[in-house]
Amino acid sequence: MIDLTIKQALAKLKDRSISAVELTRAYLARIEKFGKELNCYITTTPERALSDAEESDKRYASGNAKVLDGMPIAMKDLFATRGIRTTAASRILENFVPQYESTISQNFIDAGTVLLGKSNLDEFAMGTFSKTSFFGAPVSPWHLEKRLTAGGSSGGSTSAVASGLAIGATGTDTGGSIRFPCAITGLVGVKPTYGLCSRWGCVAFASSLDTPGPIARTVDDAAILLSVMAGHDPKDSTSSPNAKFEFDGELKPILGNDKKLRVGIIKEFASVKISDDMKNLFEKRVADLKSMGAEIVEISIPNILDALSAYYIIAPAEASSNLARYDGMRYGLRVEGTDLEDTYKKTRSAGFGEEVKRRILIGTAVLSSQSYDVYFMQAARVRRMIADAFNKAFEQCDLIVCPSSAGPALPLDSDLTPLEYYALDLFTVAMNLAGIPAVSVPCGLTQSGLPLGMQVVAPRFKDMEMLQLAKHIETASAFDNRPTKIMGN
Ligand code: GLN
Repeated sequence: MIDLTIKQALAKLKDRSISAVELTRAYLARIEKFGKELNCYITTTPERALSDAEESDKRYASGNAKVLDGMPIAMKDLFATRGIRTTAASRILENFVPQYESTISQNFIDAGTVLLGKSNLDEFAMGTFSKTSFFGAPVSPWHLEKRLTAGGSSGGSTSAVASGLAIGATGTDTGGSIRFPCAITGLVGVKPTYGLCSRWGCVAFASSLDTPGPIARTVDDAAILLSVMAGHDPKDSTSSPNAKFEFDGELKPILGNDKKLRVGIIKEFASVKISDDMKNLFEKRVADLKSMGAEIVEISIPNILDALSAYYIIAPAEASSNLARYDGMRYGLRVEGTDLEDTYKKTRSAGFGEEVKRRILIGTAVLSSQSYDVYFMQAARVRRMIADAFNKAFEQCDLIVCPSSAGPALPLDSDLTPLEYYALDLFTVAMNLAGIPAVSVPCGLTQSGLPLGMQVVAPRFKDMEMLQLAKHIETASAFDNRPTKIMGN
């Protein structure tokens, strides 16, 4: 049963050949069997899942089923869930139980989903391998014996979906945290237009970049999830009044129509060193698009290689300000000190991990009066130039394609320096700086059998067209994203 996609499972629930309780039990059994080893959940909620599923079956019986009724999903543990511990994978929030529900998780409740649990991630979503989690890193189900990363920061969600421990999941993408983990685990991950999905109730990392989005096995499934996540939210001041993603269950072909689709390739990325597999697969898929009727055009985003430097100034700056609220006074961990300041110090020293502290230090430094102009303002200028360059490029092309990463998943015990980790975000951060949507879709397997992904990038609010093209790529790569054979089911 865990082989069913969301689309297939919904059809089976509708014709009542399976029940939501059966489907949920199948997933709970998988979690029971592999959950510990994969470490993809920080908290599991089996009782909640079963009661959600029972309610769902009642709605199917009475003909009142909702859009995602009965779908067992994982919620990244960055989204506040009422009455259910929400940790952001940090010690400082280890025992934090919110009294409110984030807009995204509420949307899933309203759509009839079944909550399996809260998925693992990098602490406060800062990282690329989910290794900064206070709860230990999740593992990729691919080549399990090699203990590869499932990526980060949404690595618990990708580990869970790739291994059949959830039918779909949520993620957040500040600099690539949905697209990178999806690319290396063979999944579809959408970073929607900034402002399309509400950030309300989602633990803040870098507010001008944070973007909630779906993680699924197929483009269709990602589109259904996105339709539930998207929408204007008056509680989030950056939520767009036009936020809407309407999906009728079918992604229409965007190639082979009367109007020729112009697909851009970013010139500057050609100089970036990527693995032979990534290069070959990307070229193959571009050739496929061409043979399906796309016109391939070269475009230029002159400052795109500076996006990383700008991101690693802007994101920590915003993070240092957002994380000031964890002071032991109102919620979360508190370590008593001799006086107020000492309590702050002890609480934050014990509560935050190394990477989070590094980001707070960088952020505080670049915002200090001596550095503000040279670092923060300069980064803000680069950000503006990149956004403008994308706007200009979209006059020459309708959509853009590029690799999602330089290569496949690395072992969790890879010994990389902080800067080497940061460099892994090269292909993803520019879209966050520009606020434009991007999806990572599987484009094939490496020689050694590990998944790789490529991105489709679109102008703001062209999320639908972006997914339509992603679906063509998915079809062309005819990729089976199930590593479960390795796990003996
Ligand atoms: N790897 C990036 C970082 O560490 C992106 C994280 C994210 O998108 N949440 O900041």
